[in-house]
Amino acid sequence: MTRIAIVGGGIGGLTAGIALQKAGYEPLVYERAPQFGEVGAGLSISPNAVKGLESLGFADFLRATCNEPLDQFILHGQTGEQLQRFDRRDCRETYGGSYYQIHRADMLDALVKAFGTRNCRMGKSLKTLEQRKDHILLGFDDNSSAEADIVIGVDGLRSVVRDILFDTPDPKFSGHVAWRALIPGNRLSPRATERSNINHIGAGQNLVTYPIRGTELVNMVALTRASGWVEESWNAKAKPAELAALFEGWAPYVTEVIAAIGEDDLYRWGLFIREPLKQWVKGRIGLLGDAAHPMLPYMGQGASSAIEDAVVLGRCFAACKDPVDALSFYERARVERAAFLQAESNLGGDRLQALDPYVLRDNPPKNEDALGIFSYDPSTVELA
Ligand SMILES: Cc1cc2nc3c(=O)[nH]c(=O)nc-3n(C[C@H](O)[C@H](O)[C@H](O)COP(=O)(O)OP(=O)(O)OC[C@H]3O[C@@H](n4cnc5c(N)ncnc54)[C@H](O)[C@@H]3O)c2cc1C
Repeated sequence: MTRIAIVGGGIGGLTAGIALQKAGYEPLVYERAPQFGEVGAGLSISPNAVKGLESLGFADFLRATCNEPLDQFILHGQTGEQLQRFDRRDCRETYGGSYYQIHRADMLDALVKAFGTRNCRMGKSLKTLEQRKDHILLGFDDNSSAEADIVIGVDGLRSVVRDILFDTPDPKFSGHVAWRALIPGNRLSPRATERSNINHIGAGQNLVTYPIRGTELVNMVALTRASGWVEESWNAKAKPAELAALFEGWAPYVTEVIAAIGEDDLYRWGLFIREPLKQWVKGRIGLLGDAAHPMLPYMGQGASSAIEDAVVLGRCFAACKDPVDALSFYERARVERAAFLQAESNLGGDRLQALDPYVLRDNPPKNEDALGIFSYDPSTVELA
């Protein structure tokens, strides 16, 4: 049996593991962290990715666990006026998959359970990879090593696998900063826990809320700009007063949300970007998810595109006898789609944070619907 090593046990790595199991393989996941864990934050999973997860057996889980928004509202940051409303009621009818919102930890837990911990090697931080004649040698920072026939690098934006394979520039600070907090739903007015996604926009910044776990928690993400470098870490704390200062004079809803954030509950991190890659595979090693195509979060497609990659990867391994052919088949099937999502997501900030928010009312933005992003189905798309 071909030995497949997946480096990175995030959403992309675990989904890839499950897709490869479905294709008849028994991959091992090597994860740097000593145990699985996701940050306290919400995750939107758009219809394109939902179709992929459902093809891997997650339909019941998603239906039972996720919130399904009825509307996505784009509102004027200062006045709160409605500029756009995107109807999400009929996503399943229109696109064949629902639009879901979930706690990241709940999604990761479900993936870990489905993949099984038996095939996970924790506390393994990859340092080196050597493509030998008939196998690959993986070296970890605890001085242990492992052999594999195929390696999939799903080790995120600062991928070690990518750096070993390709000589590309380091990630660079995008000038965009993300702030996130989870707020107990009962701390906010009922509007915050209605089944909708509320996005206040203004010059160079916006603030989004949506409920997760029913009405228990409200996920808040604010995106702002900074000229200097800002630490890139999901765990760097910030003070709500700093965020309040940036959104001073914004609509009462925005002020209410920021005021409800616990003193110790706000996180802030700088968003980094990398050059798009035209090639993801070299010999017996390939990339997937943020390791291959990190993107700014303006379209909520980072994890969704990693799920798409994973489902297509599984189908390629099911279709090809030779795993090396499967890898190049996967690369051909995915590079263009991912580059498109990456480019559109990176442009999303400038579209959304127009100097004059009324521009978005008068000229509806190219959102996911207009761009056809939701129509893609990784479980049935033709693999050419
Ligand atoms: C503010 C914000 C909001 C977002 N919201 C959404 C959203 O709503 N919807 C959406 O689809 N996407 C969203 N994204 C994007 C999404 O979070 C990422 O695209 C997604 O997590 C990528 O998954 P991944 O598995 O490729 O990488 P990661 O999640 O980064 O996982 C990489 C894994 O590899 C491990 N690892 C790293 N290095 C090594 C090593 N050397 N050896 C072994 N293991 C290693 C890490 O510990 C980690 O577990 C958002 C991003 C941000 C910043």
